[in-house]
Amino acid sequence: MSRQEVKLSDIGVSEEVMEKYMVSLETGVGDSSRHVCICGHLLNRHVNAEANPYCSFGKSLCLCSEPIAVIEAEDLRFFGYSTTGLGKKHALSKGLFAHNRRGKSARWLIERECFKCNQTGVPLLIASLGRQRRVTQSSGQFNALLCSNCLYECGGSWEID
Ligand SMILES: [Zn+2]
Ligand SMILES: [Zn+2]
Ligand SMILES: [Zn+2]
Repeated sequence: MSRQEVKLSDIGVSEEVMEKYMVSLETGVGDSSRHVCICGHLLNRHVNAEANPYCSFGKSLCLCSEPIAVIEAEDLRFFGYSTTGLGKKHALSKGLFAHNRRGKSARWLIERECFKCNQTGVPLLIASLGRQRRVTQSSGQFNALLCSNCLYECGGSWEID
């Protein structure tokens, strides 16, 4: 009888991979199907139609044509709101609020910086931008975290209340 110590690597699995996987089973974090796009909807709901890519969620349609995975969330059921403006009116804010309120955890997948001037360490606001990259009050082709200067340049005003 062999007395060799059993290691995970004996069965083709590394400690590191296993650690991440087990944590993801418990928390739901660490799984790419749990990625939320900056538009506030699930990354895997984006349709890559050639001329007009868009994002479909529930009964509504979102114009997001440049999906970016920004958040990994424990529970995806909360990310189905519509964008009706920037900041608190953006779908990502509404979804995250509903999600966190239920005690669920989420983590950033990106470095938080202004998408336009790349400044970090400054307050940023989530905004929806139309085709001309101007702030829009409904869903837009683009969504971005913007610093106050860049938001102003895109035709928005800093609304934090
Ligand atoms: Zn999107
Ligand atoms: Zn969307
Ligand atoms: Zn900026």
